Amino acid sequence: MHAEPGTADAHRRGRARGGAETGQPAAPPTGDFSIFTPGYVRSLDRAFRRIFPAMGVAELLRAALEWQAHPLDAWLNAAFGAVFLAGALGLRLHRSALTVIRGAFLLACAVALSFYVLSYALLPPGLAAAETGYVLAGHYMYLLYVLMLLCWLLFPPPWASRVALTLLLASLLLGLLASGLALSEGRATLTGVLNYGLHHALVGGSLYVLLGVFTAVYARQARLERDRARLSRDALTDPLTGLANRRAFDAALEREVQASHAPGRPLSLVTLDVDHFKAVNDTHGHDAGDRVLMELAALLRQQVRASDLPARWGGEEFAWLLPGAPAAAAVRTAERLRVAAGSHDFGCGRLTVSLGAATLRPGESGAELFARADGALYRAKQSGRNRVEVG
Ligand code: GH3
Ligand code: MG
Ligand code: MG
Repeated sequence: MHAEPGTADAHRRGRARGGAETGQPAAPPTGDFSIFTPGYVRSLDRAFRRIFPAMGVAELLRAALEWQAHPLDAWLNAAFGAVFLAGALGLRLHRSALTVIRGAFLLACAVALSFYVLSYALLPPGLAAAETGYVLAGHYMYLLYVLMLLCWLLFPPPWASRVALTLLLASLLLGLLASGLALSEGRATLTGVLNYGLHHALVGGSLYVLLGVFTAVYARQARLERDRARLSRDALTDPLTGLANRRAFDAALEREVQASHAPGRPLSLVTLDVDHFKAVNDTHGHDAGDRVLMELAALLRQQVRASDLPARWGGEEFAWLLPGAPAAAAVRTAERLRVAAGSHDFGCGRLTVSLGAATLRPGESGAELFARADGALYRAKQSGRNRVEVG
């Protein structure tokens, strides 16, 4: 950096094995995904805090209205009403919204399934045999479909598909059982039972398959999104030190320069180069050199403020931006880091660093600011190293 001050070429030396270019193999995508983020669970909680009481009251009201005409439906509505109100109460008392919602959901499933059997026992007297199949196999189908849909909102795959399939198969099985009993007693016709039974199996089966496709597409989308986020994070991070890399630093520099042209908002920049680093590699080996760079990055992180942006600019060259810091503060930080590095035990003899600091002038570009800091670093090297110069 210091050999050719102010030029970008000065920074390209010694980078063959350095920083972002060393590239570590990316971990293969695992394929797992989950929509159950804390934010999602909070939304479910919020939604069901409204849904449960509203549905609970509505179902109880319907039970009262249907009591005379359709006692079977009235029982079903009352049971659902009780489950929903229990869910509402559970959300008020319990800490885990997901557990309460899932519990209420499973109870609602049990209620819906039990009515496949109850519907047989409570078949309205005088119902035409041809219509019996509708009551046994079809009457509560829509409830099953709603419950199947909910599986994908309440359980992560593969549990969503497992619960939905269990629900579908159990309803078919119980419908079959009730239908068999009704048939044997002559209270149902085979065509009626087959008609509604087949309908339920096909609609429920199609719903199950479609939701499976939807889940696969969704999982793929989530994987792509996660891979994209990881790639863009990797593209901006130095793999050895975990600091921002040159690309990220350059982008931040442009951004901060734009923001700092407002009056009264200073911006400073410090560049750092390890003194005689080649000798560390030559004497202690390249791995020891890498460890020094990692420890230096850790020191850098410790010394800067949260709002500063430290970066590994190149091989053994670091830079950091100090938004809001006037020249004096930048020099103080640089000096602090120089002392910290000089007294740190890197495990390979005494190591020193040279630093250059500069503060943005009105109308100056990011490249010009960097060139001045780089020029100051060059002077620090020229005048004996282990010092801070101001550009
Ligand atoms: P000066 O005081 O003038 O800066 O001397 P120097 O030896 O530090 O300067 P020079 O630029 O000649 O050497 C930098 C060395 O940094 C050369 C290069 O092999 C080494 N280097 C660059 N990147 C890495 C890296 O990622 N790991 C290790 N271990 N060494 C690196
Ligand atoms: Mg160098
Ligand atoms: Mg050096």
